[in-house]
Amino acid sequence: MCVSRQLGQRDAGRSSVPGVNTDDLAHGCFPCDQQAAAFLPPREDVVHTDHWRVAHAFNSTLPGWLVLLPTRHVTSFTDLTPEAADELGGLIRRLGTGLEAVTGCVKTYLMQFSEAEGFSHLHLHLVPRLPNHPEDARGPRVFVYLTDDQTQWLPATERDTIALSLRYQVSARRQRAPPTDATIVWCVPLSW
Ligand SMILES: [Zn+2]
Repeated sequence: MCVSRQLGQRDAGRSSVPGVNTDDLAHGCFPCDQQAAAFLPPREDVVHTDHWRVAHAFNSTLPGWLVLLPTRHVTSFTDLTPEAADELGGLIRRLGTGLEAVTGCVKTYLMQFSEAEGFSHLHLHLVPRLPNHPEDARGPRVFVYLTDDQTQWLPATERDTIALSLRYQVSARRQRAPPTDATIVWCVPLSW
């Protein structure tokens, strides 16, 4: 059942995250604390699967900058379960086609470092590269779109709007695709 229908209009667009085993989470780790939350806004839960949660980067000035997070606290690819690793490729492909539809990007960048202080939780950056993307912000220089200056961050409402559009695109494409093992959980808000 659609969770937003259970919660009512005030919480429309929110969705429950997958079942959380707190033994798999690290207290004080930002992604883990988010994972443990009972409900998350669309920008923090664009889509989720059994093993991954996708968020819109909170500190991005570029619409559509996504972060893919394991639902367990792991700091290395080699710590992923085989099931989580297998699920990743299909998820990236579906998100990439969704970003093309929502942002008009011509390709996506995929990066993983997990080196920033306090953000050792494994996370992958999936970033839209637009046709008119400035030359000096291509390739690794795309990180100029992440900033500590909160006044430049995309407003939460804009990140929520992008998240819901992406959620719709990913789900619509999935419904046209042959069934696979990976299941993306999503929910259309009441206003749609
Ligand atoms: Zn963590």
